[in-house]
Amino acid sequence: MDMDMGTEAAWPAGRFCLALHGGAGTIVCPEVEQAAWHAALQSALEAGRAVLAADGSAQAAVVATVQALEDCPLFNAGRGAVYDESGSFSLDACVMEGAHKRAGAIAGAPDVANPVLLAQAVLEEGFSVLLGGAGAQAFARAQGFAAMPAEYFATAQRYAQWQAVRGGQAASELDHDAAARLAQPLREDGKLGTVGAVARDRAGNLAAATSTGGMTNKRLGRIGDSPLVGAGCYAENGVAAISCTGTGEHFIRSVLAHQVACRMRFGGQDLSSACAAALAEMQALGGQGGLIAIDAAGRISLPFTTRGMYRAWLREGEMGGTGIF
Ligand code: ASP
Repeated sequence: MDMDMGTEAAWPAGRFCLALHGGAGTIVCPEVEQAAWHAALQSALEAGRAVLAADGSAQAAVVATVQALEDCPLFNAGRGAVYDESGSFSLDACVMEGAHKRAGAIAGAPDVANPVLLAQAVLEEGFSVLLGGAGAQAFARAQGFAAMPAEYFATAQRYAQWQAVRGGQAASELDHDAAARLAQPLREDGKLGTVGAVARDRAGNLAAATSTGGMTNKRLGRIGDSPLVGAGCYAENGVAAISCTGTGEHFIRSVLAHQVACRMRFGGQDLSSACAAALAEMQALGGQGGLIAIDAAGRISLPFTTRGMYRAWLREGEMGGTGIF
């Protein structure tokens, strides 16, 4: 299991910390392309840093960070989302803040440019936690979110990926193919480009956000871990904020993000041990992926079981860093 060293010490109270991911997988990223990825990660990191440095909340920072990643077509969230088996886009996102454990999420939303903003609107309204499909779409319109055309999300690279995964098979065979793929290790270039962010603000509040287009060629109506509180996203003041990326079904079955918090809160484990143990349990179910986490003391953990995970981190007063492999 890989980690970034040097981020696992506590960070003084009153100073902020932030981490983000842009998905994990068997990343194949030629050296000539790596600069563009590092730049995209850095620019999203700066969006979050700007919020925290202006005394903004952890919630506002993770939303701003994820919004920047959604706007970048390199990542599988918002613009650049992957195709489902019907050739459409279906977006999942979640935001959770740790002070009052308020959360908002959307699943299977077809046409919002920034799913994380819609998830935040669900949180702020405070009536529901998770809105799906047509309901999420209706809520988006009622909240004034524009309906984006499919062309907004489409990229040539995702289309090619979708065609490759489909392998030219007829649509009627895809259910079987999709199910088989879920049980298989990821393809060599299988990149899970979900995005997420976790933060601790100057007041010590924690927050997490996750956003995704899901998995390429996913079954119609399939919802992954990303919009599920406790699976792909979780925040609890005094404990930790966690955002996950990976084979969603295994993360759901492991209740992974909440499991990390429980290992710390009830099991007395430290952040990196809790993350490693939860990921190992998920891996034993046949899954793959990674997570980013920050605990109440400002420790940061960025482990993954895959070849790589796009990631970045910073702590107030430090430069921060970005990583791929
Ligand atoms: N966890 C996401 C899902 O299953 C995929 C990813 O992380 O890339 O929808």
